[in-house]
Amino acid sequence: MEVLTQSLLSIVIPLYNEADNVVLLTRKIHESLEGYRYQIIYVDDFSTDGTREAINAMNDPQVHLVCLKKNYGQSLALAAGIDYAEGEYIITMDGDLQNDPADIPMMLPHVLDGTCDVVTGIRQKRKDSLVKKIPSKIANFLVRRATKLDIKDNGCALKVFTRVIAKDLNLYGEMHRFITLLAFLEGAQIKQVPVRHHARNAGVSKYGLERVFKVIADLMLLLFIRKYFQRPIHLFGIFGVLLILLGLAINAYLLLVKFGFGQDIGTRPLLIFGMMFILGGIQLFTIGIVMELLIRTYYESQSKRPYRVKKVVVGGKPS
Ligand code: UDP
Ligand code: MG
Repeated sequence: MEVLTQSLLSIVIPLYNEADNVVLLTRKIHESLEGYRYQIIYVDDFSTDGTREAINAMNDPQVHLVCLKKNYGQSLALAAGIDYAEGEYIITMDGDLQNDPADIPMMLPHVLDGTCDVVTGIRQKRKDSLVKKIPSKIANFLVRRATKLDIKDNGCALKVFTRVIAKDLNLYGEMHRFITLLAFLEGAQIKQVPVRHHARNAGVSKYGLERVFKVIADLMLLLFIRKYFQRPIHLFGIFGVLLILLGLAINAYLLLVKFGFGQDIGTRPLLIFGMMFILGGIQLFTIGIVMELLIRTYYESQSKRPYRVKKVVVGGKPS
């Protein structure tokens, strides 16, 4: 096999109760990446089935095992592995052999030649139950509609990143499902390629139907982040002011009714609406202000800049 790089690759794999998969997985990675320089970073998400022992028993010098202190979930396990990773390119995948390490050499050239920062898989002939596939199709559709970003398969864990983009992902909660979108928000160039998909090798899936609701909530959060993260006052402030104006208009009308036409307004539901709109509006507006302060603290406390520079050209020569 032709090897295109001597750069170090870090393969980051979160594991929760995958004892019966790790040996075969490790062997497949070695077979697929022969000739490359790589480290395998297993993150044990507090497994209880002997996953750690199975990994240690292999005594493999290329395997690094990061053991978490409790079960944090797939996103944070991934984040821990990415933080640890030393490679110039970071590859993520699942630990149950649903992804195929043999796809990695085909994905790598797209980042190696500098044309993109993330290569993500589109699972072909996905070997999961309909209970999984249907909600995931809906989620993909929603993401596509809401973001106009043509992501075909948000749920595929097999991805290759440049180091900078991977380290900048900031995974919280269960955001691993939206990594492509997160990377896009960081300004990454993304390429999607078809990859193989297999049924789970051994062990059981860690997720049930409740994930549908989590996905919807996470998606709403991401849509907010995408549009308003750096200018929350434009959302909350505008709605706040509109509500206040509506409330004021209602109350002005009621004042006219009372003092102009001498009618009683104490029993009119409209009075409650008028007051609620004003109070709600003030609250929305203040939330906007608080969020503006928060976002400033977010950037300034970490000396982060709210923009990313791709490159600088001096005197017409790319540096
Ligand atoms: N995983 C993890 N911590 C968890 C749940 C899952 O590290 O709390 C790992 C799991 O071991 C696997 C990957 O995340 O390597 C994907 O999990 P799973 O295969 O259960 O998800 P599915 O394929 O069913 O979506
Ligand atoms: Mg799986």
